[in-house]
Amino acid sequence: VGDELVVRVLPDVPAIDKTFDYLVPPKWRDQVRVGTMVRVALHGRRVGGWVVAVDVMPPPGITLRPIAKVTGWGPPADVVDLATWAAWRWAGRPAQLLRTASPPAAVGALPSPSTGSARSTGSAGAADAAPRLPVGAARLVVRLPPAADPFPWALDATARGNALIVVPSVAQARRLAGRLRSAGVATALAPQEWARAAGGATVVGARAAAWAPVRDLAAVVVIDEHDESLQEERAPTWHARDVAAERARRAEVPCVLLSPCPTAEARQWADRLVTPTTTEERDGWAITDVVDRRRDDAARGGLLSERLTRLVRDRDRGRVLCVLNRTGRARLLACAACGEIARCERCGAAVTQPADALVCPQCGATRPVVCSACGATRMRNLRAGVARVREELEALAGEPVDELTAASGPDAGRGARIVVGTEAVLHLPGDDVGVVAFLELDQELLAPRYRATEEALGLLARAARVLGGRRRGGRLVLQTRVPDHPVVQAALHAEPPRVAAVDDRQREAIGYPPFRAIAVVSGPAAPAFVDAFGAPLGVEVLSTGDRWLLRAEDHTTLCDALAATPRPAGRVRVEVDPLRL
Ligand SMILES: [Zn+2]
Ligand SMILES: [Zn+2]
Repeated sequence: VGDELVVRVLPDVPAIDKTFDYLVPPKWRDQVRVGTMVRVALHGRRVGGWVVAVDVMPPPGITLRPIAKVTGWGPPADVVDLATWAAWRWAGRPAQLLRTASPPAAVGALPSPSTGSARSTGSAGAADAAPRLPVGAARLVVRLPPAADPFPWALDATARGNALIVVPSVAQARRLAGRLRSAGVATALAPQEWARAAGGATVVGARAAAWAPVRDLAAVVVIDEHDESLQEERAPTWHARDVAAERARRAEVPCVLLSPCPTAEARQWADRLVTPTTTEERDGWAITDVVDRRRDDAARGGLLSERLTRLVRDRDRGRVLCVLNRTGRARLLACAACGEIARCERCGAAVTQPADALVCPQCGATRPVVCSACGATRMRNLRAGVARVREELEALAGEPVDELTAASGPDAGRGARIVVGTEAVLHLPGDDVGVVAFLELDQELLAPRYRATEEALGLLARAARVLGGRRRGGRLVLQTRVPDHPVVQAALHAEPPRVAAVDDRQREAIGYPPFRAIAVVSGPAAPAFVDAFGAPLGVEVLSTGDRWLLRAEDHTTLCDALAATPRPAGRVRVEVDPLRL
């Protein structure tokens, strides 16, 4: 081949995991590096792809073809390596991840590094309250109260150089980027300002920003690391928090995870936990009214307690948001005599009654139909639709009530003072909310999902944030039949660790993440995949009907075994660290 340049290309074609070697014509030599996006001829077609190695020795006896076109800049070399790691970690293909890491439109040239003034003048605006980031590859979890502002942490990170800051939503990313710019920090919003990011700037964005190019990465910050929108729902089910943390580890820079209620995963990962003072934490949560529905339910029926009725009628309180999740949630059974919810004695989830026994949909345990509080043997279903609750609320308040569901249009919930609907009501704009009420919190508390407890506390944290914390005087109303539940107590006392202790113990006892590594295999070709997977050492294979659960002591054991398994023809979905089981 002489002195011709040969590159290795990973084609962006489903079901092709192999790389192929191509020649680089002299005119493109200066433009080709690891990550560069190219077009090449493959099996008689022209396809896109990424250069994954430059100046390689091709296999002998092969006539190489030249690349057909240089499309433009692609993910930098460190991100290409990261994609290889993440493909192993979440049992996917590197191409799927490189697609997320690539610019939304072809980038022909990079702008010169953006410069900001914040770095030279110190952390502008952060004043003396500025947090101090540790040096080196420190792993920090910061328990930041719901209504507290994470901005000082973001700003502090940018004082180190180009930071990567990941947040749950695009709207949050936009606001944060604006504030950083106002503070004089050169900022690129990912993914739309991909070229600016690659040129050199602090990078801010939602989930996909974990894959954005960051030149000379100096620090990583993940805000609201507990938010489930940070995890990709489609396989490979990579988590932006974990991808960002791995980037920090590789670059040997500090990584800070912020959350009002840090996840079990984050707490296990951290080498230091930063906690607020008791006063800061109390101020950051909300004044909370716990309404024990076991007492007043028998007398009133329906979903609106007397306490809530009084708050709803009080117009001086501002907007009222009522949360009632219905679709895809637990069906709850309560004792007909004493109102106690029927729960699994092993894992705490709400049980169902398909026939003459109570069955746990989460762990499979069964027991006789007997109330564990009073011994009565008759259960009844708790169920009321959003539509009926809306009518009741309207009648009680004497004014129109809006309904917000997954099916509502974009303007739903923006007109009326009172809104009832799914947890989406907590994302409505506006800062005049005086009451947030969970009409049936037990739906969240006892859902048969292993993250249910953590997710429920995350929802209450969100509600406390919407209310602006304790000082603004709003009310968080929790209607429940399990008033002693650690989530209820944690919100009431502004003490999230009450949940962590119980949740860790329970997850460890039943072998759930992060104490074990888990993957769920489903889809038409799942049986063939599980056949090929076999019974590797250290991995448990459990069948749950049409899905399989693979469980190992750690990710290395699980992911190595998954990587060694050939994919059968047909569709198979492998979810590592599934959100739900
Ligand atoms: Zn159970
Ligand atoms: Zn009972």
